[in-house]
Amino acid sequence: MLLARHARPSLTTLSRMDRCLLPFLCALALASCRPETAPRPAEVAFEEDRAWRLLLEQVAIGPRPAGSAGAEQNRLLIERELRAAGLAPVRETFRAPTPAGEIEFVNVLADLPGTGDDMVILGSHYDTKRLPFHFVGANDAASNTAVLLELARVIAAGRKRGPTYRFLFIDGEEAVREQWIDPDNTYGSRHHANKLRDTGMSARVRAFVLLDMVGDADLRLTRDVYSDRRLVEIFHGTARKNGLGKHVDGPSMDVRDDHISFLAVGIPSIDLIDFEYGPRNSHWHTDQDVPENCSADSLGIAGRIALMGLDVLEKDYARR
Ligand SMILES: [Zn+2]
Repeated sequence: MLLARHARPSLTTLSRMDRCLLPFLCALALASCRPETAPRPAEVAFEEDRAWRLLLEQVAIGPRPAGSAGAEQNRLLIERELRAAGLAPVRETFRAPTPAGEIEFVNVLADLPGTGDDMVILGSHYDTKRLPFHFVGANDAASNTAVLLELARVIAAGRKRGPTYRFLFIDGEEAVREQWIDPDNTYGSRHHANKLRDTGMSARVRAFVLLDMVGDADLRLTRDVYSDRRLVEIFHGTARKNGLGKHVDGPSMDVRDDHISFLAVGIPSIDLIDFEYGPRNSHWHTDQDVPENCSADSLGIAGRIALMGLDVLEKDYARR
């Protein structure tokens, strides 16, 4: 993709308390009113520690650019986690010409059926930028991939939702060249979005919500000018109302990322991205994109911002 320092968050303590209390409260509830068939829990907590372990596991693979052995290892990790969440991942494989010759790209996706016809797609690219050094991409893109995997687990284990949720792990977001020159970028998202358009499925998709670079230890989501304005208000506004205001409403920027591919086929889309990684984005695409510059707390905050926004989004569509 192309383009405020503040106090450290204190959510870890709270969420850990929640997690300690949750089994006790659940046991109480179940003891008092457990029906014959065990219900799915109303809400399952987003666990940043679990997401953090997934970030570290991806970083340990090493570089993961499109077409590499590392990318395949990353896909196996994604599929393992989706299956553990009770989902059935499928691969969408295609070949495309690039400045480095033809490459095989592979998107990985899993659907969680809802009660209605609408669909919401949550996306994250998992490929890392090809660079002439050992680039591990802790923030770009292990962080967003880890958060999306944890979101898939939480949403699949939680209440039945109206829309079908598609969890989409996108290959080939990064430009093969060092510079971002169209069409050398967003290979996987363009392929998927164009397929939705060509099959008529895009009319069912109410929103595409992209996560990218959400691991920055100093997390503050950018206000991207291309993102759908209503979705920006839903996600940033809900975060603001729930005490996470310092992590949203960052600087306004024009961010070219995978959401552009979905906007191009008429799907309302938003990029939840912090495009200020280090002072003046100085850690981006450098050897400073390492776990030490990310935090589990940020993964948890990003996950909660997404979940709270999705709740509001679902109610918003239900009213229409
Ligand atoms: Zn990147």
